[in-house]
Amino acid sequence: MKPAPFHYTRPASLDAALAALAEYGDDAKVLAGGQSLIAMMNLRLVRPSALVDINRLAALSYIRESDGALAIGALTRQSAVEASGVVAAACPLITEAIRYVAHKPIRNRGTIGGNLAHADPTSELPAVAVALDASFTTQGPSGQRTITADDFFLGALSTALAPGELLTEVRFPRWPSGQGWSFMEISPRAGDYALVGVAATLEVQAGVCRSARLVYSGVGDRSTRVAAAEQALVGQPANQDSFRQAGEIAATQIDPSSDFHASADYRRDLVRALTRRALLQALERCQKGA
Ligand SMILES: Cc1cc2nc3c(=O)[nH]c(=O)nc-3n(C[C@H](O)[C@H](O)[C@H](O)COP(=O)(O)OP(=O)(O)OC[C@H]3O[C@@H](n4cnc5c(N)ncnc54)[C@H](O)[C@@H]3O)c2cc1C
Repeated sequence: MKPAPFHYTRPASLDAALAALAEYGDDAKVLAGGQSLIAMMNLRLVRPSALVDINRLAALSYIRESDGALAIGALTRQSAVEASGVVAAACPLITEAIRYVAHKPIRNRGTIGGNLAHADPTSELPAVAVALDASFTTQGPSGQRTITADDFFLGALSTALAPGELLTEVRFPRWPSGQGWSFMEISPRAGDYALVGVAATLEVQAGVCRSARLVYSGVGDRSTRVAAAEQALVGQPANQDSFRQAGEIAATQIDPSSDFHASADYRRDLVRALTRRALLQALERCQKGA
């Protein structure tokens, strides 16, 4: 199918992009990589009156470290993030998870900002952003705002971005050395959206778990952090038993839906299995002094 008619503009500066968004009004859409937006327009699932193409805003494409954080411009292509040594050193969980995002040609075009702004509850990067306490910088009619990842994702395809507002940067606190991490998912085929994914982080001292973070994709209308499972790990020996117990707790705390791809019970089973496996991998990385 073809999209419904729309205005198109390709501004050369951030100010001009914000002005165009203001001019075209609430149903104007930002066009970044187009890997989700154009498909939805073709299927007439969205009918924006105008597209504001931000691909000329080269200033929004960068990866750098500043003030102890990893800063990634919203227009940075997913494949650039995947290949970046700076990202791998500062936040290895991102490097691990982004390889699960679609296929290489899609990552060559898709942007990190578009992926996060799209807010698909089965996406990998929103779960990673929540697990790592990322923060989002936006620019809009009322100036610049900073929004925590926890507050950014409101529901399926729904974020805290206000009308006329652009996501400009994502910041991840630098990964502390000695902690373990893992991202795992199960999908019908490589490159498909996952049935369930988990982003896990783990801090272990003298064999005892000091802190953990468990955030799941595909089990609700947004990335789902299960604090009860994290708390059950703290103060316990870091081993198969405590990891299995955390998986049991996580499986009871989530409320996944059944669909064409998987039943809710199967998704709970995946949460049990992936929690244990991801924590074991995170533990191995702790032990190697990751
Ligand atoms: C076959 C296929 C498989 C895929 N599999 C996966 C997968 O497994 N995991 C996954 O996470 N994704 C997957 N995707 C989606 C892919 O990662 C998209 O690239 C991504 O979700 C959107 O990024 P984009 O830059 O293409 O954004 P676009 O499609 O251009 O935009 C997406 C949405 O975000 C908004 N937006 C974009 N940039 C900004 C900004 N800077 N500020 C405010 N709003 C903005 C747009 O207005 C639009 O609403 C898949 C896509 C395809 C086609």
